[in-house]
Order: sequence, then structure tokens, then C-alpha cells
Amino acid sequence: MKVYKTKTELSGHLSSLVSSEKTIGLVPTMGALHPGHTSLVNRAILENDVVLVTIFVNPTQFNDSSDLENYPRTLEADLTLLKRLKVHLVFVPSLEEMYPEKDQRTFYLDNLDKVMEGKHRKDHFNGVAQIVSKLFRLTNPTRAYFGQKDFQQFVIVRRLVKILDLDISIVACPIIREEDGLAMSSRNVKLSAAHRKLAPFIHSTLKRATQKMDLLSPEEVKTWVTSQFEKQPDMHLEYFEIVEDKELRPVIDWKEKVNKVGCLAVQLGGVRLIDNMNFD
Ligand code: AMP
Repeated sequence: MKVYKTKTELSGHLSSLVSSEKTIGLVPTMGALHPGHTSLVNRAILENDVVLVTIFVNPTQFNDSSDLENYPRTLEADLTLLKRLKVHLVFVPSLEEMYPEKDQRTFYLDNLDKVMEGKHRKDHFNGVAQIVSKLFRLTNPTRAYFGQKDFQQFVIVRRLVKILDLDISIVACPIIREEDGLAMSSRNVKLSAAHRKLAPFIHSTLKRATQKMDLLSPEEVKTWVTSQFEKQPDMHLEYFEIVEDKELRPVIDWKEKVNKVGCLAVQLGGVRLIDNMNFD
């Protein structure tokens, strides 16, 4: 496994692959790797000749400076894991390497960035678009792997590739959960023991909501989910929306012939958790 810290070194290695027409699978991460990340890496290994994992905590996508400061960083353990998974290349750039100049670009993301996460995390998706576009241009992968855990991010990256007219296929990978249903996340380690015990309520509520589709309209399911979280004094539901998976428009009627996804964000003891579930 080769670990590179500079764009020059990485580009040098990647350009040697172009002539041999090897496929490249890119897995962008912010590190503090867990089995959710591992699932993306394993899929990339199955589908590509060369797998490149990037580890970079991207400041431009954080709207909250204390969230950025407190974000877990476990580089040594991450590299040990990636080596065991037989990843070929790892890119671990510094801040100066990724942003030698302040990135002034504003992306027009067809308003996909104005709902749900976008409403609560100002400029978050512009920061995601900045770093993802840099990584795509630098590495020109055949495929790039994203988790459905960050469903809105996946939808936006898929659109970004269209907007930038890039020939990269964006692969969505299913959400990996703890045994008790909590979606795996690097932020889970920040939960207190008591809050960690409460956290599976998020998944169980989503699951119970899907079971109400026969009786309740989408709007009524929304109201029901909100009422469930109101009974949890330690949890603050930021939003719950049932949207279709192309334009992220709210679903009005279950009969609509679209893929329906129920998405939410919850604050639990200062930790922000997101999750989602298909409503089919
Ligand atoms: P992050 O390091 O949190 O930026 O995540 C890097 C990638 O891993 C993103 O595409 C995430 O959606 C994905 N990911 C994170 N957690 C999970 C999970 N529990 N299941 C599947 N994918 C995940």
C-alpha cells in the first residue's frame, strides 16, 4: 500500500496507470474509519483494478468550527485497517495541499442543496462540491463510492458529475448499522454512554414509520415521527422529510411512482446524527 501526501506524488503514480488502462475506484473519506467505510472499500476492490482511499477532514464543509475541531482523527489505525483490506493507494493531504488558495467557487446544485441538510448546515454542500470536484479532477476515477447514509450528499454528487460533465460513475453503497440499528458514523464515539443507549431509537422510529404507510399519508407519517421525538427530552429532531430520490421533492402521495426516502437529522447531547430509510 502506497501512502501519498502530495498531489504531485499521487498524480505521478496515477499517470503511470493510464497507459495500462486500469480502472480506478475512489473512496473519499474523512477518516476515523469504521465498517461503513470498509463496505465501500470492499466494493471498490471487487469492481476496480486499483483502489484509492482519500482521508481528509475537509474544513469547507463544516459550518460549525467546534464540530470540525472535535472531529475524530485516528490516522494510524485507519492506515492499518486499509492495509489489511489490501487497498492500493491512500491519499492523506494536508490542508495547504488541498487548499493552497481559498476556494472561492460557488456551485449551483439545482437547489438540491437548499433542503434538509442544506437548510440546517449552511454552505455544507458547497464545501462538499469543492472538495469532491478537486478530488475528481486530481484522480479521474472510473468509479467513486459513496454511502447511502449520507443520502443527500450522494444525490448531490451524482448531480455534480452531470453538471461538470465528468465520466465517473457514482456508486451508492447501503447503510451499515450497529447490531442495535444505529447507523455507523465516525461521530458515534462522541456520544455519552447514556446517549449511545438512546440512539437506536432513531432507526427504530424510522422502521416503525415505514410500517404506517398503509394507514397514514406521507404528511401524517411526518407528524407521527415528529410526535415520537417530542417524547424524547434528550433528542432534538431537526427535520424529517420523505422525499423522492432525484430532485428531493417532498412526497405527497404514496402512489407516486418514485423512490421514496425518509430522511432525518437529530441532535443528541451535542452530537448530530443523520439517518434515512427507503419508504417503498
Ligand atoms: P465520512 O468519512 O463520514 O465523510 O464518510 C465517507 C463515506 O463513507 C461517505 O460516502 C459516507 O456516506 C460513507 N459512510 C459513512 N458511514 C456509513 C455507513 N454507516 N454506511 C455506509 N456508508 C457510510
